[in-house]
Amino acid sequence: MSDHTAPRSVVIVGGSVAGATAIDALRQAGHEGSITVVTEERWPPYARPPLSKAVLKGVEAPESVLLPHYGSDVTFRQEARAIGLDIDRRVVHLADGDEIPYDAVLLATGERPRRLSTNPAEMVLRTLDDAIALRDRVPAAGSVLIVGGGFLGMEIASSVRELGAAVTVIDQEPHLERQFGPDLALRIRTAAGERGVELRCSPGGVELLGSEQITGVRTAQGTVFEADLVVSAVGCLPNVEWLEGTGLATAAGIAVDSRCLVRPDIAAAGDVVARGDAQGKLRRTPHWANALDQARVAAAALVRGPEAPAYRPRPYFWTEQFGFEVKIAGEIATGARLSEVDGGLLDREALLQWTVNGRAVAAASINRRIAVRKLHQLAGAGLI
Ligand SMILES: Cc1cc2nc3c(=O)[nH]c(=O)nc-3n(C[C@H](O)[C@H](O)[C@H](O)COP(=O)(O)OP(=O)(O)OC[C@H]3O[C@@H](n4cnc5c(N)ncnc54)[C@H](O)[C@@H]3O)c2cc1C
Repeated sequence: MSDHTAPRSVVIVGGSVAGATAIDALRQAGHEGSITVVTEERWPPYARPPLSKAVLKGVEAPESVLLPHYGSDVTFRQEARAIGLDIDRRVVHLADGDEIPYDAVLLATGERPRRLSTNPAEMVLRTLDDAIALRDRVPAAGSVLIVGGGFLGMEIASSVRELGAAVTVIDQEPHLERQFGPDLALRIRTAAGERGVELRCSPGGVELLGSEQITGVRTAQGTVFEADLVVSAVGCLPNVEWLEGTGLATAAGIAVDSRCLVRPDIAAAGDVVARGDAQGKLRRTPHWANALDQARVAAAALVRGPEAPAYRPRPYFWTEQFGFEVKIAGEIATGARLSEVDGGLLDREALLQWTVNGRAVAAASINRRIAVRKLHQLAGAGLI
């Protein structure tokens, strides 16, 4: 028997997908007390994945991304920013001076884009408001320059290209290679090139140019690229500054135990969470499916204590760009060997598997319908 006492009041900080999922999970775990969500944005919870896809292309209205309503038994405070956590008094401090007491708190403050400058004119894509601003500017832009050739930068490039703009994507490394490994990255880069997107590598990074508007970049080699619209997609930082002084956060994010707990009364879930990788290095895995899984585990752990099930990481991610719908389970380790299980990469329709020393570590479907469970099996995760 554990001496865990179920909380009467739970506060969730961060009202996005991890926070919204935790509401349901708390109720399912038997929590009958109060739930208060505080979140900085003016929108109720919404899905970010369509922002760089259908919303940016203008084929889906911004409101279509809002998540189903969370129920009237939840106090939801929008445009409310948490600025401090008193872990001894169990109080969340808000920017407007309010204090919200809690028995248990779930930290789900996610990430924000890393910026290349302090210029407010620098455009990024993280929030629904960012997506609306970008979507509204693209039609008048003859040329768009994207800094960052990872998933997000390349998705933005793909969507913007479909709208007719001339698109250049600049990165320090070969685009998508860190995320996809060399073979799949090459196929998608080829598809991008066929659609007229220019991909440039600039070791050493770039500096943004312009003041009222960002007008281009200068590379470390001194080459200048100019464009009507410049978007930065150079990674993210965890939203942990408000926890300063609590000892709960590191620069990598919030480290949690196997049940997503930081302490028995404090849990964390989603993009803000950092977990130790195989080398023991704290790493965030900022993907939609992880946010859902962690929120469920974290909520159950706050309510049920040590009886709650542990988190079983099931890395899963999808992306849509340049005619490729890619779903990936597992993690593509550096140097992993790629084989085509069915179909072919050149045909742009395939089931792929990556192995290390003969052991499956990741699998992907390319323009194929496949149950996520099966993809996990192919990635070596066993029956889930
Ligand atoms: C454009 C885009 C496309 C994406 N596409 C995909 C995809 O195709 N596939 C995929 O798997 N994943 C994708 N992702 C990632 C996925 O959306 C995230 O993993 C997911 O949103 C994480 O949810 P979260 O709740 O942990 O954090 P977030 O969504 O970052 O939400 C955190 C919330 O907390 C709020 N907050 C932060 N600090 C405070 C504070 N101090 N006080 C109050 N509130 C605060 C923030 O304003 C925010 O609303 C995409 C992300 C983006 C931006």
